[in-house]
Amino acid sequence: MITFDQVTKAYEDGTIAVDNVSFTVKKGNLVTLIGPSGCGKTTTMKMINKLIPLTSGTITINGNDIANENAVELRRNIGYVIQRIGLLPHMTIEENVSLVPKLKGWEKKDYEKRVDELLDLVGLDPSVYKKRYPLELSGGQQQRVGVIRALAGEPPIILMDEPFSALDPISREQLQAELKLLQKNIHKTIVFVTHDMDEAIKLADEIVVMKEGKIQQISSPMNLIENP
Ligand code: ADP
Ligand code: ADP
Repeated sequence: MITFDQVTKAYEDGTIAVDNVSFTVKKGNLVTLIGPSGCGKTTTMKMINKLIPLTSGTITINGNDIANENAVELRRNIGYVIQRIGLLPHMTIEENVSLVPKLKGWEKKDYEKRVDELLDLVGLDPSVYKKRYPLELSGGQQQRVGVIRALAGEPPIILMDEPFSALDPISREQLQAELKLLQKNIHKTIVFVTHDMDEAIKLADEIVVMKEGKIQQISSPMNLIENP
């Protein structure tokens, strides 16, 4: 479903952040991109939703070269969750989560229902939380909202860039388990960036190991445990 074919990204200053990378993310799979800081994980993600252009190579989504797609249109089909969460502080939880569905022109009753369902899904009682502002929630709760906001417009693809790394260990484990369940239920294609091997093994259908801009290894979690 997402295919990288010999993709290279060199920044203006000459840094080669991603170096001739090829891999495929199958539909409905959760793939983790793992590697040390600076190995090119975030650059890889940003190319998928056209936040930055490729230097060479091709990325296709469902067979369509993203070079031919309008970036704004493309991003409506890709949920993006980042470490800093990025909830809009002056908007309520309900307003934050319904942002994309509204942009997509959903009817009020449909997006209101969707917000309630999603909050329930991550254990936040809608009657308590939807009128609250992000800063009135704990870090773990805000990150849950970050995750469901990315899901709200029903995008087929979700990109998650170290979404849980700022959380305390307990919230983090909870969210990892919730994400795994969520993925089973919603069957979305997810690319998940982490530098934590435990997290990668816990979550992934497939693990892509990066080092210095190159792919070092692609394997199943089981293989990686047996042949590290
Ligand atoms: P990771 O997400 O694995 O930490 P990044 O993709 O952020 O890695 O960075 C890969 C490499 O590209 C690093 O050497 C980083 O310093 C460099 N880099 C990232 N963004 C830029 C930029 N805007 N300009 C120049 N170099 C950059
Ligand atoms: P967690 O265990 O997820 O880290 P916290 O200990 O931070 O949660 O918060 C516990 C409870 O207090 C949560 O139900 C949260 O919604 C509520 N809470 C935290 N900060 C605020 C706030 N500023 N205003 C209202 N409720 C808050």
